[in-house]
Amino acid sequence: MPGGRYAVVSCHVERPLDDEVWELFAALQARPPGGFRIAALMRPPDTAAGEDEILWLGRARAAAENGPLGLHTHWTAPDHARPTGSDPAARVREHAAWLAARGFELSLFCGGGWYMDAAVAETLAELRFTDCTATAFRPRYLPEGAPRLEAREPCYVQLPSGRSLLEVPTTHSIGMLARGLLAPYRGQIVHAYFHDTDLLDAKRRTALSLGLTFLGMKRWQTDLEQVQRGLRPAKTMSFANSGP
Ligand SMILES: [Zn+2]
Repeated sequence: MPGGRYAVVSCHVERPLDDEVWELFAALQARPPGGFRIAALMRPPDTAAGEDEILWLGRARAAAENGPLGLHTHWTAPDHARPTGSDPAARVREHAAWLAARGFELSLFCGGGWYMDAAVAETLAELRFTDCTATAFRPRYLPEGAPRLEAREPCYVQLPSGRSLLEVPTTHSIGMLARGLLAPYRGQIVHAYFHDTDLLDAKRRTALSLGLTFLGMKRWQTDLEQVQRGLRPAKTMSFANSGP
């Protein structure tokens, strides 16, 4: 991917088993505004909470037909993304193994609630994931000092073990895309994200549609898989210096 200016789009699929939310997402992914192949970063089912594994698998397969598929770990509960204890890295390993056992060899990751720590990053590097958890913006709901990664451009994150993790940061929310209608987008890769639940709101749906259409006119459309395959960023940052 030499020198061009690209854009990719991902969706945090929070409620894959909610029929209304799923249908809105599936329709959007099948006919995406701006012509983007939207990556579905899916939260695996919480079978302990009674979520239906078979339905989930069917929907994940359908999403994989229309775009890249990735893992979006929620550490605590379906509606509570960030960890509240235990071992966050073990949870990621458990999710990856659960998916692999069902035939999904995923290699894209975005941590729920933008959570990242050194052990999670090491696990992702070991399992050869590309990470999208770093953000170019500061999520407003996170308290000062909450563990997260910050990056504006794709880079390799150098980890304490010596491994490195390919990072394709998330750069724009729906609101930021809308503001980009007036201001130029910066950076080599714009990575816009939204939540499937955003689609329940007609206003947000319209904003997303307009934002992606406009982005598709300003940037070359690509997708996270292509970026993962073709991008070799020149920049490296140390994990120790990448926090909040
Ligand atoms: Zn989430």
